[in-house]
Amino acid sequence: MKTPIKQICDKALGGALLSANEIRGLFAIPPLSEESCHIQWASRSISEKAGLAEIHGQVGVNTAACPCNCRFCSFAAANLIFKENQVSDLEYIIEQCLHLQEQGANAIYLMATANMNFADFLNIAGEVRLKLQPESIMIANVRDIDYYEGLALKEAGFAGIYHAIRLGEGEVTRISPRKRLETVQAAKKAGLKVGTCVEPVGPEHSLNELVEKTIIAREIEPVFSGSARRISIPGSSLEQYGMVSEASMAHILAVVHLAMGPGISGNCTHEPNTPGAIAGANLFWAEAGFNPRDTFEKTEASRGFDIKKCQDIFKEAEFPVLQGSSVFFARD
Ligand code: SF4
Repeated sequence: MKTPIKQICDKALGGALLSANEIRGLFAIPPLSEESCHIQWASRSISEKAGLAEIHGQVGVNTAACPCNCRFCSFAAANLIFKENQVSDLEYIIEQCLHLQEQGANAIYLMATANMNFADFLNIAGEVRLKLQPESIMIANVRDIDYYEGLALKEAGFAGIYHAIRLGEGEVTRISPRKRLETVQAAKKAGLKVGTCVEPVGPEHSLNELVEKTIIAREIEPVFSGSARRISIPGSSLEQYGMVSEASMAHILAVVHLAMGPGISGNCTHEPNTPGAIAGANLFWAEAGFNPRDTFEKTEASRGFDIKKCQDIFKEAEFPVLQGSSVFFARD
């Protein structure tokens, strides 16, 4: 006789959508238990059936004392890490994008803080687009946008956006969950694909919030989902809660994957780690430039992993990596 947890895993493996109670039941299982191992095995088997793992590369193009004040972000004005507005030189941004492309990134993301001038961002994107190979997929990780700004991103050569309704949205950020969801809808209407994630997870988050944000992620119908932990920013008000372990994150990202249902095969985690890939994470990010989890300006010389390091982690997890352009972002 199968345990109720194994029955829920079978349901997900069979392609059925899990209910909120079933997702809650999976999240409630202790991370290193026998049943958690089963959940992680089920998630990994979905990833293996979906195909190869991907590594995307992100370049943070600017820094600022951002007034949105997301407490988990080093750019938040309240965290007093980056006190001045600064946009990287175009040459440096292009060099980092080309380096990521050369190393084998399956997609290139350009990230900007919420208060970066949108026209300046589009200009940078246009220059980068000209230098990247035509088949390289470009993704925007930017502030909330409306439909017309979505069209402008598409016109500049972006295939999609990364956007999440974060844990604690509206409470530890100055952005309402509704605004975040409106951006997702505007982007989709403009023809942009959307990648999302249940993040940034901290030890203080309740089962109910994990379930709520997982279902929101599912309803976005993203090209990939997944889950990532919060990295403590020194001196931030969230530092007191500490960080979730990689062992716990492996369990959480596996549950998120099982909850997504058929058609959402991409399952990211960040920062890259072997337990996560063993548990079914099939998308990592390499990083350069400014990074909201770092306190240094050039994250490629600090916290940021390069493509090779991400490849090595997937190798340790026995997960082959895609060569060429992202399949996640190529899917309709
Ligand atoms: S996450 Fe984005 S919106 Fe929030 S503080 Fe950082 S840059 Fe600003």
